[in-house]
Amino acid sequence: MIQLTTATAIEKAINKARTVKPRVRVNCFGSYSVTNKQTGATYSVECLKRDGRRFAHCSCEAGKRGQACYHIAAAVAAHIQLASERAASH
Ligand SMILES: [Zn+2]
Repeated sequence: MIQLTTATAIEKAINKARTVKPRVRVNCFGSYSVTNKQTGATYSVECLKRDGRRFAHCSCEAGKRGQACYHIAAAVAAHIQLASERAASH
């Protein structure tokens, strides 16, 4: 579980996500499956908000160690978009 403080904290992961361009599938709001199209590997990413702070968790090895991986970066980008769409529709 990593805490998402500022965008710069996951900047490296965001850059990697831009290079790898993984596919993000939305399971439900806050739950995503991120697939590396080259390797076919899929990992589960969870985004949640607790006490006003945002956290994310990924099922890959780096994610399990609490590192910001590109799966998290890709899922968070989708999550933010989804959250803003939800906010706009309410
Ligand atoms: Zn990961």
